[in-house]
Amino acid sequence: MQREHSRRLFEEAQRLLPGGVDSPVRAFRAVGGEPFFVARGEGAYLTDVDGNRYLDYVGSWGPLILGHAHPAVVAALREAVGRGTSYGAPTELEVTLAAAVQEAFPSVEMLRFVSSGTEAVMSAIRVARGFTERQKVVKFEGCYHGHGDGLLVRAGSGAATFGVPDSAGVPAAVARETIALPFNDLEAVRRALEAVGREVACVIVEPVVGNMGVVLPRPGFLSGLRELTARHGVLLIFDEVITGFRLAFGGAQEAFGVPADLTCLGKIIGGGLPVGAFGGRREIMEQVAPLGPVYQAGTLSGNPLAMTAGVETLRLLKTTGFYKSLEERAAALEEGLRAAAAGGAVRVQRAASMLTVFFTDREVRSWNDAERADRQRYARFFRSLLEQGVYFPPAQFEAAFVSAAHTAADIAETIRAARAAFAAAAA
Ligand SMILES: *Cc1c(COP(=O)(O)O)cnc(C)c1O
Repeated sequence: MQREHSRRLFEEAQRLLPGGVDSPVRAFRAVGGEPFFVARGEGAYLTDVDGNRYLDYVGSWGPLILGHAHPAVVAALREAVGRGTSYGAPTELEVTLAAAVQEAFPSVEMLRFVSSGTEAVMSAIRVARGFTERQKVVKFEGCYHGHGDGLLVRAGSGAATFGVPDSAGVPAAVARETIALPFNDLEAVRRALEAVGREVACVIVEPVVGNMGVVLPRPGFLSGLRELTARHGVLLIFDEVITGFRLAFGGAQEAFGVPADLTCLGKIIGGGLPVGAFGGRREIMEQVAPLGPVYQAGTLSGNPLAMTAGVETLRLLKTTGFYKSLEERAAALEEGLRAAAAGGAVRVQRAASMLTVFFTDREVRSWNDAERADRQRYARFFRSLLEQGVYFPPAQFEAAFVSAAHTAADIAETIRAARAAFAAAAA
């Protein structure tokens, strides 16, 4: 595959942007080689500036459950943009999207829109601290909750890939307020809350982890968290930035039947535009300014274009059978990949339309397990797929996403390419 134009752009980009990118994993450092520069996206495909086409399983890292440039979303945006791009004043669109979120997440009685998942999580933590008048935060190793200071402690995703679980620039005093425990270890949570529960404002978790690769909660883990947090007066925050509208319309809370006190959303609710949201029980959200003492604000929050993309996306997700057909395609990919691996030391872990291929011989249930997976093999697997025109996540610790735009033929093509990629990985 020839990537001359991408190569030139990357050279120039590296002079202007740290690493040539605006978000670290995009630089392909974990898998080697250089990123391609995108010219356009359409359905399940990306086309780069050299005219190469890729079947895309990154989906902008989660938002694009409908695929790129869905015609209905694009049409809604075209119409909206003519009415102005930002008002800094309330719109009907915010009310419409808030009602759609509320319908999907009954535990979210009140919410606020922000512009990214990071912002949603930072704000939710502040609200939890304000409401409980406690300081400490419990998180789980390998869960990524955006790049807020207190959450870059044993974080997954790019922070894991780059081996800086504790970023430079995070004050030690802030990191000390964060307690990181192993995912899926309810006993560790019980012990921590028994020891310091009265100082803990919240437990935050990715209910299905996407950011150390896809890791599922053991049966009873989420309901156990629900019970333990309630017993200690600690708020339970589900970071559903990936899982919201992904595992089911109502996210992990619908899929597992466990309600959260506060929920963070992002990615899919923006339909490919920058949106995040945090919300939860009314008495908690009434702490937020201007109703309460917890300050939170944003110039572009509730932006009309972003709200438009969100409203249209959620409307399409409510189409009968949407999640069922997505599940069928994702299951076909999972089974095909497993067969293509032909008994090698490979685990394919999947929840709904998110999955990860781990090069390891045992189930991945925690960060320690994920770290044991063979990243070199994953890198060879990735590069082989890419040369065959299939774009998987450029790092082991990320989820691949199947969208509604992936056809049965696309899945079959991926499985065919994966056979060669597994062989390349083993070599
Ligand atoms: C992506 C992500 C975030 C951060 O969202 P941004 O929009 O990238 O700031 C937070 N939590 C989880 C679980 C995520 O996957």
